Amino acid sequence: MNSRLLTSLVFLTAIFSGNAALSQLSAIEQGLRDYIDTHHEEAIELLIEIVNINSGTQNLAGVTEVGRILRQRFDGLDMDTEWIDGSAWNRAGHLVARNTKPNNSGPHILLIGHLDTVFQIDSPFQEYEYLGDYIAKGPGVADMKGGDIIILQALSALKDQGLLEQMNITVVMTGDEESTGPSEYTEQARAALVAAAQDADIALGFENGDGNPSTAIPARRGYANWELRVKGNPAHSSQIFQDEVGAGAIFEISRILNSFYEELSEEEYLTFNPGIIIGGTELNFDSDTNRGDSFGLSNVVSQDAIARGDLRMISNEQTMRARSAMEAIVARNLPLTDAKFLMDAGMPPFQDSEGNRRLLGMFSQASQDLGYGEVTAVDPSRAGAADISYVGDYVEMAIDGLGMGGANDHTVDETGDLETLHMQAKRAAILMHRLSRDD
Ligand SMILES: [Zn+2]
Repeated sequence: MNSRLLTSLVFLTAIFSGNAALSQLSAIEQGLRDYIDTHHEEAIELLIEIVNINSGTQNLAGVTEVGRILRQRFDGLDMDTEWIDGSAWNRAGHLVARNTKPNNSGPHILLIGHLDTVFQIDSPFQEYEYLGDYIAKGPGVADMKGGDIIILQALSALKDQGLLEQMNITVVMTGDEESTGPSEYTEQARAALVAAAQDADIALGFENGDGNPSTAIPARRGYANWELRVKGNPAHSSQIFQDEVGAGAIFEISRILNSFYEELSEEEYLTFNPGIIIGGTELNFDSDTNRGDSFGLSNVVSQDAIARGDLRMISNEQTMRARSAMEAIVARNLPLTDAKFLMDAGMPPFQDSEGNRRLLGMFSQASQDLGYGEVTAVDPSRAGAADISYVGDYVEMAIDGLGMGGANDHTVDETGDLETLHMQAKRAAILMHRLSRDD
């Protein structure tokens, strides 16, 4: 289908769905809706332009270029823009756009996007392709260049209605959401986002969520990585279990992992997955590449074992509880073994709250008033970690998943639903307008 026909079909659909709920929208809100519908084709053109620029996290030039193009658009809205250089943490950097002039009123709203994708420069998946029926395929089309365009469209509509000037808005589009790098850099890499959240009252994340536009995300699980390093006492296997030999490293690491499973696997929203294990008399493990090998003989009690895994949790309280239960299990060593359990800071959970539920309710109301139906919460066990997780603790209310609908993200079959591009922009613009009047 050519793009003109596509646009007119999309436009007709929009008029149809808009009419059903005309009376629910104020004149200004109708203006927001109409602006976004009439600028839908331009939004798709900009989406195509940025999808066709490779911005795999490690392609610093590509991420910077996508940031440069979007920065011009925020400049065009008379926002104050800034590029935060990421070389200190080996990434491209972040785009920040602010509309926080001294006389502005209403709550300070933080809008979160990201410029990078999981598709590196050598990926076979580099181009936007229209598949028909409003579905487009492309690297990062839904995760989350579509979401970035939705932010821009919503703000453009607010600007067009003369509303943006008085609002308090900060946009942060990170350049390294998909691969934040080693945990020792996390604090630095997320400093701009956290600082923006500390100044904000409300945060809206435009990730693609679970791909279903009738859901949004008031809570996401966080994650941490853990490692077990276990030592045993090498001896002839015929002497294993004797007081002077003990149980060996492999029995000990097996006991620990099995106890994790037995004691903790039933807890709601808590998961932990050992992804790699090596044991024997001698082992080599490269902790950067997660590769290794081992040597061991069936007649020698094992000396070393190592396992690595992740942990996903719904609240900080659950992290603390799981961690202390795991540490207690680790400490109950089998005879003559020693085990160390290490866990990194990972990414905090985006914790559910009454504020988040209220914000979800307002988003759902905006959706219904536009004729798009109710929006409900995604099951948190289906929602992965994202940048909103770094801001949830600093704002009164936050939701994520307000981006473009789509499917198969993080694969070479990633698609985005172009219908949801203007649908989500309209919902977001009306939500922001209502939030700015609601204090
Ligand atoms: Zn994403």
